[in-house]
Amino acid sequence: MSKEILEVLKAAGLDVLACMHCGTCTGSCPSGRHTGLNTRRILRDARKDRVVLSDEDLWLCTTCYTCQERCPRGIPITDALLELRRLAVREGFMLPEHRRVSEMVMECGHAVPLDEETKKKREELGLDPIPETVQKYPEALKQIQTLLKTCKFDELVAEK
Ligand code: SF4
Ligand code: SF4
Repeated sequence: MSKEILEVLKAAGLDVLACMHCGTCTGSCPSGRHTGLNTRRILRDARKDRVVLSDEDLWLCTTCYTCQERCPRGIPITDALLELRRLAVREGFMLPEHRRVSEMVMECGHAVPLDEETKKKREELGLDPIPETVQKYPEALKQIQTLLKTCKFDELVAEK
Protein backbone atom coordinates (compact mmCIF):
# COMPACT_ATOMS: atom_id res chain seq x y z
CA MET A 1 0.00 0.00 0.00
CA SER A 2 1.29 3.42 -0.83
CA LYS A 3 0.89 4.98 2.58
CA GLU A 4 2.62 8.15 1.44
CA ILE A 5 0.25 8.77 -1.45
CA LEU A 6 -2.77 7.98 0.68
CA GLU A 7 -1.56 10.42 3.32
CA VAL A 8 -1.03 13.19 0.78
CA LEU A 9 -4.50 12.57 -0.62
CA LYS A 10 -6.01 12.49 2.85
CA ALA A 11 -4.26 15.72 3.85
CA ALA A 12 -5.90 17.33 0.81
CA GLY A 13 -9.29 16.08 2.07
CA LEU A 14 -9.35 13.25 -0.46
CA ASP A 15 -9.95 9.97 1.32
CA VAL A 16 -10.08 7.27 -1.35
CA LEU A 17 -10.20 4.39 1.15
CA ALA A 18 -13.99 4.70 1.28
CA CYS A 19 -14.20 3.24 -2.25
CA MET A 20 -16.32 0.09 -2.41
CA HIS A 21 -15.31 -0.68 -5.99
CA CYS A 22 -18.80 -0.45 -7.40
CA GLY A 23 -17.42 0.77 -10.74
CA THR A 24 -19.91 3.63 -11.12
CA CYS A 25 -17.07 6.04 -11.81
CA THR A 26 -15.59 3.91 -14.58
CA GLY A 27 -19.00 3.19 -16.10
CA SER A 28 -19.88 6.90 -16.13
CA CYS A 29 -16.63 8.18 -17.52
CA PRO A 30 -17.02 9.74 -20.99
CA SER A 31 -13.29 9.57 -21.58
CA GLY A 32 -13.15 5.91 -20.56
CA ARG A 33 -15.62 5.08 -23.35
CA HIS A 34 -12.98 6.01 -25.90
CA THR A 35 -9.72 5.39 -24.07
CA GLY A 36 -8.20 2.97 -21.60
CA LEU A 37 -9.00 5.23 -18.64
CA ASN A 38 -10.36 3.15 -15.77
CA THR A 39 -10.96 5.45 -12.84
CA ARG A 40 -11.71 2.73 -10.32
CA ARG A 41 -8.44 0.98 -11.17
CA ILE A 42 -6.42 4.19 -10.78
CA LEU A 43 -7.90 4.78 -7.33
CA ARG A 44 -7.17 1.17 -6.41
CA ASP A 45 -3.58 1.51 -7.66
CA ALA A 46 -3.11 4.70 -5.65
CA ARG A 47 -3.75 2.58 -2.56
CA LYS A 48 -1.11 0.07 -3.60
CA ASP A 49 2.07 1.79 -4.74
CA ARG A 50 3.72 4.82 -6.27
CA VAL A 51 3.69 3.31 -9.76
CA VAL A 52 0.36 5.05 -10.21
CA LEU A 53 2.28 8.31 -10.62
CA SER A 54 3.85 7.10 -13.85
CA ASP A 55 0.55 5.79 -15.21
CA GLU A 56 -0.13 7.70 -18.43
CA ASP A 57 -3.86 7.04 -18.08
CA LEU A 58 -3.85 9.68 -15.34
CA TRP A 59 -3.73 12.23 -18.14
CA LEU A 60 -6.76 10.89 -20.02
CA CYS A 61 -9.23 12.44 -17.59
CA THR A 62 -10.96 15.53 -19.00
CA THR A 63 -11.97 16.69 -15.49
CA CYS A 64 -15.66 16.66 -16.40
CA TYR A 65 -16.49 15.68 -12.78
CA THR A 66 -19.17 13.14 -13.80
CA CYS A 67 -17.56 10.40 -11.69
CA GLN A 68 -17.27 12.68 -8.69
CA GLU A 69 -20.94 13.66 -8.90
CA ARG A 70 -22.07 10.05 -9.16
CA CYS A 71 -19.85 8.26 -6.65
CA PRO A 72 -22.20 6.70 -4.07
CA ARG A 73 -19.50 7.04 -1.41
CA GLY A 74 -19.05 10.75 -2.06
CA ILE A 75 -15.38 10.37 -2.94
CA PRO A 76 -13.93 13.48 -4.61
CA ILE A 77 -12.57 11.35 -7.44
CA THR A 78 -11.68 14.07 -9.94
CA ASP A 79 -9.96 16.11 -7.26
CA ALA A 80 -7.99 13.00 -6.29
CA LEU A 81 -6.93 12.49 -9.92
CA LEU A 82 -5.80 16.11 -10.10
CA GLU A 83 -3.82 15.65 -6.90
CA LEU A 84 -2.20 12.51 -8.32
CA ARG A 85 -1.25 14.49 -11.43
CA ARG A 86 0.27 17.19 -9.25
CA LEU A 87 2.36 14.60 -7.45
CA ALA A 88 3.30 12.98 -10.77
CA VAL A 89 4.57 16.26 -12.23
CA ARG A 90 6.58 16.99 -9.10
CA GLU A 91 8.32 13.68 -9.66
CA GLY A 92 8.97 14.43 -13.33
CA PHE A 93 6.19 12.32 -14.84
CA MET A 94 4.71 14.45 -17.55
CA LEU A 95 3.65 13.70 -21.10
CA PRO A 96 5.94 15.26 -23.75
CA GLU A 97 2.92 17.11 -25.15
CA HIS A 98 2.21 18.74 -21.79
CA ARG A 99 5.85 19.68 -21.41
CA ARG A 100 5.75 21.30 -24.85
CA VAL A 101 2.58 23.23 -23.97
CA SER A 102 4.23 24.41 -20.75
CA GLU A 103 7.23 25.59 -22.74
CA MET A 104 4.92 27.50 -25.08
CA VAL A 105 3.29 29.25 -22.15
CA MET A 106 6.73 30.22 -20.83
CA GLU A 107 7.94 31.37 -24.24
CA CYS A 108 4.95 33.31 -25.51
CA GLY A 109 2.33 33.38 -22.77
CA HIS A 110 0.00 31.06 -24.67
CA ALA A 111 -0.46 27.33 -24.88
CA VAL A 112 -1.41 27.76 -28.54
CA PRO A 113 0.39 30.77 -29.93
CA LEU A 114 -0.85 32.73 -32.87
CA ASP A 115 0.55 31.57 -36.20
CA GLU A 116 0.87 33.41 -39.49
CA GLU A 117 -2.09 31.59 -41.02
CA THR A 118 -4.40 32.68 -38.21
CA LYS A 119 -3.12 36.25 -38.42
CA LYS A 120 -3.91 36.25 -42.15
CA LYS A 121 -7.41 34.87 -41.58
CA ARG A 122 -8.06 37.53 -38.95
CA GLU A 123 -6.99 40.24 -41.38
CA GLU A 124 -9.27 38.85 -44.08
CA LEU A 125 -12.13 39.11 -41.60
CA GLY A 126 -11.27 42.74 -40.97
CA LEU A 127 -9.83 42.07 -37.55
CA ASP A 128 -6.59 43.21 -36.01
CA PRO A 129 -4.15 40.38 -36.89
CA ILE A 130 -3.07 40.15 -33.26
CA PRO A 131 -5.89 39.94 -30.70
CA GLU A 132 -5.88 41.71 -27.36
CA THR A 133 -3.79 39.11 -25.63
CA VAL A 134 -0.35 38.97 -24.11
CA GLN A 135 1.13 38.45 -27.58
CA LYS A 136 0.32 42.04 -28.40
CA TYR A 137 1.97 43.42 -25.29
CA PRO A 138 5.63 42.44 -24.76
CA GLU A 139 5.62 43.99 -21.28
CA ALA A 140 2.74 41.74 -20.24
CA LEU A 141 4.64 38.75 -21.56
CA LYS A 142 7.64 39.70 -19.44
CA GLN A 143 5.36 39.89 -16.40
CA ILE A 144 3.99 36.43 -17.10
CA GLN A 145 7.50 35.05 -17.48
CA THR A 146 8.53 36.65 -14.19
CA LEU A 147 5.48 35.21 -12.49
CA LEU A 148 6.19 31.71 -13.83
CA LYS A 149 9.80 31.92 -12.73
CA THR A 150 8.84 33.19 -9.29
CA CYS A 151 6.50 30.22 -8.92
CA LYS A 152 9.33 27.96 -10.11
CA PHE A 153 7.08 26.72 -12.88
CA ASP A 154 10.12 26.44 -15.17
CA GLU A 155 11.83 24.09 -12.71
CA LEU A 156 8.65 22.08 -12.23
CA VAL A 157 8.20 21.31 -15.92
CA ALA A 158 11.89 20.93 -16.79
CA GLU A 159 12.99 17.47 -17.95
CA LYS A 160 14.18 15.56 -14.85
S1 SF4 B 1 -17.91 5.28 -7.88
FE1 SF4 B 1 -16.90 5.70 -5.92
S2 SF4 B 1 -17.20 3.87 -4.69
FE2 SF4 B 1 -17.68 3.31 -6.82
S3 SF4 B 1 -15.74 2.51 -7.63
FE3 SF4 B 1 -15.77 4.67 -8.11
S4 SF4 B 1 -14.70 5.67 -6.40
FE4 SF4 B 1 -15.26 3.62 -5.73
S1 SF4 C 1 -13.72 13.55 -14.26
FE1 SF4 C 1 -12.24 12.38 -15.47
S2 SF4 C 1 -12.33 10.30 -14.65
FE2 SF4 C 1 -14.16 11.39 -13.93
S3 SF4 C 1 -15.76 10.92 -15.41
FE3 SF4 C 1 -14.80 12.83 -16.09
S4 SF4 C 1 -13.17 12.22 -17.48
FE4 SF4 C 1 -13.78 10.40 -16.34
